[in-house]
Amino acid sequence: MHRRIETTSFYLFRQHFPDSDACLAHLMRVRYGGTEIDFPKCGVHSKFYRETRDPAYICRDCKHHTFPCAGTFMHRTHLPLHKWFYAMFLFTSSRRGVAAKELERQLDVSYPTAWRMAHLIRKHMDVIDGEWSLDGEIEANETYVGGEAKGPDADSMPARPPYSA
Ligand SMILES: [Zn+2]
Repeated sequence: MHRRIETTSFYLFRQHFPDSDACLAHLMRVRYGGTEIDFPKCGVHSKFYRETRDPAYICRDCKHHTFPCAGTFMHRTHLPLHKWFYAMFLFTSSRRGVAAKELERQLDVSYPTAWRMAHLIRKHMDVIDGEWSLDGEIEANETYVGGEAKGPDADSMPARPPYSA
């Protein structure tokens, strides 16, 4: 189940989730189907735009605010969404799991915060692996990047940074 993300690099994670906005957009896609959807609240096929002050999207038709984090373990925390996503990336890319001490170090958060994050992520690992899969996002983007690539060997080249580390 974790096979794909284990081969996915931190480089790709950074590329596809560069900031909290990208993470919010991911949640909007996986939970609501994107920003152009049949919206049950107003019953029309509507486009959503980003609310700039809150982590929300607004229906262009009825102006309803949709909070992609609502009802998730990330709602009402003061941590940037990006830290949650990085923590989820660490969990999904590690077969042995991640210690709270490690999260504390990698995310630059306090130990109690790291402990709480680890607890919540472990508890919700099924949804992180399933519906929210960061993996699917990275895979889809790789396909897109692959399509843009020029050159005879582009298709057969493994996904990797354009430079060697
Ligand atoms: Zn609407």
